[in-house]
Amino acid sequence: MWGIIATWRMAKEGIDKSVPILEKGGTAADAVEEAIKYVEDFPFYKSVGYGGLPNEEMEVELDAAFMDGASLSIGAVAAIKDFANPISIARSLSKYTVNNMLVGAGAEKYARKQGFERKNMLTDRAKIHYRNRVKETQEMDISPYSGHDTVGMVSVDSSGHLVAGTSTSGLFMKKAGRVGDSPIIGSGLYADSSIGAASATGLGEDLMKGVVSYEVVRLMGTGMSPQEACEKVTFDLDKKLIERRGIAGDISIVAINTDGDWGAAANIDTFSFSVATATQKNTVYTTKRVGNKMVHEEASQEWLEDYLTERMKPLEEK
Ligand code: ASP
Repeated sequence: MWGIIATWRMAKEGIDKSVPILEKGGTAADAVEEAIKYVEDFPFYKSVGYGGLPNEEMEVELDAAFMDGASLSIGAVAAIKDFANPISIARSLSKYTVNNMLVGAGAEKYARKQGFERKNMLTDRAKIHYRNRVKETQEMDISPYSGHDTVGMVSVDSSGHLVAGTSTSGLFMKKAGRVGDSPIIGSGLYADSSIGAASATGLGEDLMKGVVSYEVVRLMGTGMSPQEACEKVTFDLDKKLIERRGIAGDISIVAINTDGDWGAAANIDTFSFSVATATQKNTVYTTKRVGNKMVHEEASQEWLEDYLTERMKPLEEK
């Protein structure tokens, strides 16, 4: 049995690329890297890779991580600039026993030495988003932070090997050097080939408070299904944050176990995810909380197309 699940509809085309790898008995590591690279390269997804939204200084700083659930090897980069595929750099760092997480200039130096593709990741479209946001923020006297998403992906291959990966440009208008949960092992992602793997998206500052991906894997280890574990961790953290802080940021989690059973939960109504397994073609779902359960609904062709049209429509300077 193989399977792959990722946060957001934006992962769909990447997963299309990975399905043949998994079908042919390829590794979850290759499947996750290939799919995430596709999302990083697609210029119209404004929260991952090329075309990602910049920080408050109009620089695109990217975070990514990779975890191998068999050896528990980890690799991560944070606040890295000017490299095309942070996920590949993160995966390459997972080969070492030390120096697994590199940030900023150190990460760039490593990537340069290893010959990873350099690229200016700031697109004209992202510059328009930036200038519009600066204007809006000044005119309306509001917080500048709006917009963030991560491609968080987990996969089990036909050898039962589990892998997790993430990639994001993080919080739009963040301070230079701000790092979210996505490259943080345990928060943004976790994989253990004896149990399962999980990955998160949402407000990094809040996701880290619940170490959510590790917690989902831990609960699956006690016998919970991926769906039950995602729901418990999402709803409990949402409740705790509201009780303690009066407000909870966005929390969305996906997970898969060694049998290829998958789950997803969110405390927002706009979450979507993409999933394919040996017995299920690549499918995008939207999901909503109803009581203490998530209800997943298969996205229609029209919804899938509208999502892309919306992201690719001409952008006007305000
Ligand atoms: N978790 C990411 C961050 O805070 C953003 C997201 O997934 O929406 O950087």
